[in-house]
Amino acid sequence: MNDINIEVSKIYYIGEKYSKLLQKIDILTLKDLVYYYPIKYEDSRNVINIEDIIIDNKNIIKGEITDIRSIYTKNRKNIINAQIEDGTGLAKIIWFNQPYITNNISKGTEVIISGNTSFEKGFCIFKSPQYEIVKENKENIHLSRITPIYNQTKGITSKWLRSRIKNVLDQINIEDYIPLEIRDKYDLLEINTALRKLHFPENFEDITQAKKRLGFEEILYIQIISYLRKEERKKRSSYKIIIDKSKIEEFINKLDFKLTESQIRSINEIYSDIEKDIPMNRLLEGDVGSGKTIVALITAYITYLNNLQTAIMVPTSVLAQQHYNNAKQLFKDIRIQLVTSKTKRIDRTASIFIGTHALLSNKEIFKNLGLVIIDEQHRFGIRQRETLVDKGYYPHILTMTATPIPRTLALGIYGDLDISRLDEMPKGRLKVKTYIVPDNRRADTYNFIKEKIKLKEQAFILCPLISESEKLQLKNVENEYKHLKENIFTTEKIVLLHGKTKDKDSILSRFKDREYDILVSTPIIEVGIDISNATIMLIEDAERFGLAQLHQLRGRVGRSSKESFCFLFTSNKDNERLKFFAKNNNGLELAEFDLRKRGPGEIYGKNQSGNPDLKMASLLDVELIKITKNAVVDIVKILDKYPALENEIRQAQNKILTIN
Ligand code: ADP
Ligand code: MG
Repeated sequence: MNDINIEVSKIYYIGEKYSKLLQKIDILTLKDLVYYYPIKYEDSRNVINIEDIIIDNKNIIKGEITDIRSIYTKNRKNIINAQIEDGTGLAKIIWFNQPYITNNISKGTEVIISGNTSFEKGFCIFKSPQYEIVKENKENIHLSRITPIYNQTKGITSKWLRSRIKNVLDQINIEDYIPLEIRDKYDLLEINTALRKLHFPENFEDITQAKKRLGFEEILYIQIISYLRKEERKKRSSYKIIIDKSKIEEFINKLDFKLTESQIRSINEIYSDIEKDIPMNRLLEGDVGSGKTIVALITAYITYLNNLQTAIMVPTSVLAQQHYNNAKQLFKDIRIQLVTSKTKRIDRTASIFIGTHALLSNKEIFKNLGLVIIDEQHRFGIRQRETLVDKGYYPHILTMTATPIPRTLALGIYGDLDISRLDEMPKGRLKVKTYIVPDNRRADTYNFIKEKIKLKEQAFILCPLISESEKLQLKNVENEYKHLKENIFTTEKIVLLHGKTKDKDSILSRFKDREYDILVSTPIIEVGIDISNATIMLIEDAERFGLAQLHQLRGRVGRSSKESFCFLFTSNKDNERLKFFAKNNNGLELAEFDLRKRGPGEIYGKNQSGNPDLKMASLLDVELIKITKNAVVDIVKILDKYPALENEIRQAQNKILTIN
């Protein structure tokens, strides 16, 4: 099993059924499986004697099952009652609805048990605890160690993943494409060791080391591609764009606001790029609400005046629709085409195309693509971004992001980029007042929202889940919407939105047109949504979200001169992160705080980073970026000595540089 690209269905003990489930979490190959990182760890090393059990706490014990009975209740629910002894005492165990347990455990089986312990009728009781059978000469993989926890999906548990990953790691030997001399120089683990230490660490230092090696890989990959791309770009030429200053001024003067200094500065920086025949590659960086869209649209307008086409790519259809509506209002005489997966007919004579990744699969639509704009660029993988660029002659590229990356770091990673920054908010914006609300003030909060609605303002209410989950005790929008509509906001107009809602776009535009007062939503509205009349963002289970994500969500309000509020509800009121968030409004500082506070056993994941290229590394990790930058220089020098490395890079290169 040394071919890491074989399909998971071919792996022993996985098969067709599970490979279908794995597909849902993007695990297609053996490599994907071993690169499926834990999200966190539980330290279950501390096995104690039954006599030392602490009531109402989580305890881990090890002993022999001395009694076990399985019964069915009248309504056909299964209950297993068992008893465990370890020489120091006796404890009881109850499992509900897991009848198969008696297939594995019987009288005399030695097991480890982990779970919360209560005290009832004179006994310590574990209710539905985790368990693992102790086998002679076999190490435990689930309990009495530092146990990895994976993101679970339907039908796939952490326990299942652990044993499959263990199986695979015991057998494979992946060829390490980072050469020994580089690993030595930068003090990096060999890849097989790194993966083993990540999934089966003996201590927390193992995890730290594994994270370093795997994070190095991620950043290195981006940097090498960026390096190669820069080389490629030097050889290409682009359309020269003529700037008609008076027309643009006329356009700007018609806007219903005055551009900020930094918007004007950025526009000028863009001008001087696109006037040349070398393709522009500029990143426009600015915190949520700083006004990036108008800078992009002005650039599109200039391009239009030169009879060239513009493509604007955004990560969600909802956002595409918003930009489309926005552009149509601004440019009454220009043909604009929306391109999402639902678009049936495309007008190829349009001048501005606004869409999702569906733009990528419509290669033929462009005649003369002069400009590519990628909004929320961190949401797209580095390869995806480049695909759109491949489509045209060689267009100018403007990418936009609110992800705060200090300038020096951004240049370090994306060596091929120039950067413009919007470092001020439009005039008259107030700081969004943020509060962690104790549950006994919930009613007051709802009343406050009602008062604001009377003043014709609007509110978002956000929950992490769409529908009820057995595993997660979190609020879901379906139940919450129903409850709020029936019991709380009975006279207000309230509407529900989530990823599976049918007419998302029309609901949002109707919310924008104030047909509704309250939008109950999942984080689907996290990126880019601009509804300036909304002044309240209420977030349930706020501790579930990363600070960067909370900052994005909070950025949906405070988009006018009206005072805005962000209310956080949480089961964890002492949450240090949330307290920091409530006090701080600076995206960069929030992201840095999150990075600093991340313990060795916490893994960022691509959901938190919001960046499909990054599961392990953070773009704020100064040290890592420095060393990978040096490594790129080293690696490029020795490329021809290492076929595996060269191959890996060629593969990456082929994927991104198949131009024409
Ligand atoms: P982001 O940078 O988060 O993408 P947007 O481009 O969506 O921000 O802008 C946020 C809001 O601010 C929009 O409603 C936009 O029309 C408005 N806006 C942009 N620039 C200015 C400005 N200079 N003065 C006032 N409002 C502005
Ligand atoms: Mg935006």
